[in-house]
Amino acid sequence: MKKTIRDYDLSGKKVIIRVDFNVPMKDGKIQDDNRIVESLPTIKYAIDNHAKVILMSHLGRVKTEEDLVKNNLKPVATRLSELLSKEVVFVDKTRGEELESAISNLQDGDVLLMQNTRYEDLDGKKESSNEEELGNYWASLGDIYINDAFGTAHRAHASNVGIASNLPNGIGFLIEKELEHLEKAIKDPVRPFTVILGGAKVSDKIGVIENLVNIADYILIGGGMMFTFLKSQGYEVGKSLLDEESIEFCKKMMEEYPNKIVLPVDCTCGKELSEDSPMRAAIISDIHEDEMGLDLSLKSFDLFASYIKMSKTIIWNGPVGAFEIEKFSIGTKVLCEELAKSDATVILGGGDTAAAAIQFGYKDKFTHISTGGGASLELLEGKDLPGISIISEK
Ligand code: AMP
Repeated sequence: MKKTIRDYDLSGKKVIIRVDFNVPMKDGKIQDDNRIVESLPTIKYAIDNHAKVILMSHLGRVKTEEDLVKNNLKPVATRLSELLSKEVVFVDKTRGEELESAISNLQDGDVLLMQNTRYEDLDGKKESSNEEELGNYWASLGDIYINDAFGTAHRAHASNVGIASNLPNGIGFLIEKELEHLEKAIKDPVRPFTVILGGAKVSDKIGVIENLVNIADYILIGGGMMFTFLKSQGYEVGKSLLDEESIEFCKKMMEEYPNKIVLPVDCTCGKELSEDSPMRAAIISDIHEDEMGLDLSLKSFDLFASYIKMSKTIIWNGPVGAFEIEKFSIGTKVLCEELAKSDATVILGGGDTAAAAIQFGYKDKFTHISTGGGASLELLEGKDLPGISIISEK
């Protein structure tokens, strides 16, 4: 078990909390504050326990001077202050005297947000390459380090691994919640345990399939990746997404696990990936040469629903259709609806799956929606996440 924020006496201490404030921004405006909201329990706990709270986060990628303007964390400080009903000191620097003196002026229970950690990437990727000097320097600003940024836990950066190597450390409530749900599901699932995989490419999910095929009872395949599986079984898939290099892998999986891997029986086809495209339902043996399979169709909805009904644990990662286009979003919506009705433990991987479920109004209908796309995938692959491995055991 990892140490958590609860394992420390925070009173009067400078507590650095690495949060994930990587929110979608447009023209300096926050489009969705979910990640800020998800960080509140840990921040409030530190405030209530009289810590001097120093928050660090990345925002977007910083490669050019323009990225500095685009990825300024200032609007996040304003929003955080509203959510906490409390002043948040924002320091527009990632090092130096201004930052150090703002930290030394903090009183117990005060909150400070430092500028985007990736400003340090402009000159030699210091944050993203976990430059030792930077991790040491940031660690020198605090007494205790808490990692609560699940979205970057699969990367070894100065603001997670670098600082944690130098300070007493623990995880925050968000990472604790992510681990509790995702690790429990893959280490000790209540069965039957079903995994639903979608998304564009098989190659992105090979690691997940290889790991979960040994753990899950069923793996249902949808999305663009279903067509590579179908091709491996000899079906013609027209102009559908095809991941040539993964055909052999799919064939091998179907040979080894014919009763575990479940393929759709029909799909909705279009002529192109657009709202104006004509559409048609087709059984999988009848996809025309000039068509693309862009969603599941009715018989597959029923097939997927029958597995959902008998499952006790379900993990879903990857939309089952091109959900950004309304006419090809039905399968992903129906899947949300079926999962919302289920009394199984239902866990959604982050990224596009979470975005789709939230967009369609299912935010509070599942056991857990992960806040980390890449990080949740790597956990499902059975990999260690460096930002979490570095945290001390109890
Ligand atoms: P991923 O990032 O791998 O989870 O892929 C998500 C993307 O896959 C979304 O943008 C979907 O629009 C896309 N997608 C899902 N199903 C299909 C499909 N049948 N054809 C094309 N794109 C799809």
